[in-house]
Amino acid sequence: MRKLTILFLFLATSLVLVTNSARSQRTSVSRQFPVYNNGGKPDLVVDPQRFVSQMEIVDRFFTESGCAFQEGVIGGTGYRRILRFDTVVMNSGDADLVVGDRSDPDNPYAEWFEFAPCHGHFHIRDFSVYELLNANGTLVVAGHKQGFCMEDSFKYDGGKSNGYDCGFQGISSGWGDWYYKQLTGQWIDITGVPEGDYIVRVTINLAGTFDEGTNRYPNVVQTSIHVPDPRNKVAIDTSAEINDK
Ligand SMILES: [Zn+2]
Repeated sequence: MRKLTILFLFLATSLVLVTNSARSQRTSVSRQFPVYNNGGKPDLVVDPQRFVSQMEIVDRFFTESGCAFQEGVIGGTGYRRILRFDTVVMNSGDADLVVGDRSDPDNPYAEWFEFAPCHGHFHIRDFSVYELLNANGTLVVAGHKQGFCMEDSFKYDGGKSNGYDCGFQGISSGWGDWYYKQLTGQWIDITGVPEGDYIVRVTINLAGTFDEGTNRYPNVVQTSIHVPDPRNKVAIDTSAEINDK
């Protein structure tokens, strides 16, 4: 009983610590990218802290029946080495990004919606691309274009959420849309990439689908990463694929 209590206290404390650190991280990021007067337009920017802090390299086993294979986000089946990370798209403009519902015949973004069969909802196609580059900036792995369904996940700055989700899509001013690293495709397949120092780069609003006004904040985030020798072991992720976003 006493052991259980201690375990519980330990877990409760860890949870508080995790929650607080996530909150303080969001506070410092919102100070870096405060909501500003953008003439009533959204301005999309990736949370650079979360992108870096969640980055990891793992091995995963993939079969032909999985979504990852069907969506073309891996170079083949079997064990693949993936470099994965969180992408949170923040909206730091002074208006919501309103993408809306695909079933609305007047939706201005109708041509950008693409149905994702594994997910059972629509994504915005060509919204972002994930790439691996050499230290000198040449492309090593031409990453896949990652589809997004825009919704409010975290509050960074500003007011309340207007409740966007994968049905009626958008990101409220001051909020962020979180794609966590466990989601299918939230990675770059680095299988066979030789040991060395590389750059991981994420570009959002790639096709210029959304008008970002003065676009004060960058649409590109990047960081350096050391890729270990492919013969070295890394952690193996055996969890099921997650395709709910
Ligand atoms: Zn989805």
